[in-house]
Amino acid sequence: MPSEVAYDLTEEKVMTTTSSCESCGMSIESGRYCGYCTDESGALLSFEERFARMAGWQARRDPAATKQDIERQVLDYMATMPAWRDHPRVQAR
Ligand SMILES: [Zn+2]
Repeated sequence: MPSEVAYDLTEEKVMTTTSSCESCGMSIESGRYCGYCTDESGALLSFEERFARMAGWQARRDPAATKQDIERQVLDYMATMPAWRDHPRVQAR
């Protein structure tokens, strides 16, 4: 029956729709931020905490890069994130 097919397609679309964390871009089921970007109470971590952790990830991904390169790459990335793009450290890069 055509109506059943339409229903299945709608359900599929809802189930595969995800949003992304406004702080790091990771795919999440719901909400604004992923578990890495929030503390136990669900509040967004500070810029310094996120910056330090993202710099650590980036340094592992690109071990040959200098600390300066890493920091610039992280700031460039954070500039694309709604949570950080207006932060003074990102604006000043
Ligand atoms: Zn995140």
